[in-house]
Amino acid sequence: MRRITTDHFTINIKHRESTTHLFMHMLSPTLYTDQLPHTYKFLMTHLPCIYKSKCFNHSKVPFKKEVKDTEIAHLFEHILLEHLRLEKESRGCKSACFSGETRWDWSKNPCGTFHIKVGVKHAELEVFSKAFEKSINLFMSLLDSTKLMHQRPAVAQN
Ligand SMILES: [Zn+2]
Repeated sequence: MRRITTDHFTINIKHRESTTHLFMHMLSPTLYTDQLPHTYKFLMTHLPCIYKSKCFNHSKVPFKKEVKDTEIAHLFEHILLEHLRLEKESRGCKSACFSGETRWDWSKNPCGTFHIKVGVKHAELEVFSKAFEKSINLFMSLLDSTKLMHQRPAVAQN
């Protein structure tokens, strides 16, 4: 098992034969993307192909709409799936496709914890590692840019 710790969250990674499981614990109070209002624009700039991905959510809305108000781990799942697809295709696979699922139950588990399951096989460890690293970097810069926006000092007036 691998563990990632940042200022914003921790993630434990467990690889199984045909799936990879991530256990995410948000350490900051950011749990929904409506707390990050620039998410849509940010992804349009840095990962626009994410908007072509399919999302199977309860309200059956396209990811373009879902992204504006969803659980933070669901956003991370989509960022990871997109990087997995790109990484696999960069290695010669013509149309790669990965599936994912994010679950949470804060009546049983601590608030801010999520289980993310992605269809990455143990044999695709290298693809996963590259895609995961890129996803963490992008996700961190989204969370950091929000922090900066809130911390921006008032401009002095003369
Ligand atoms: Zn989705």
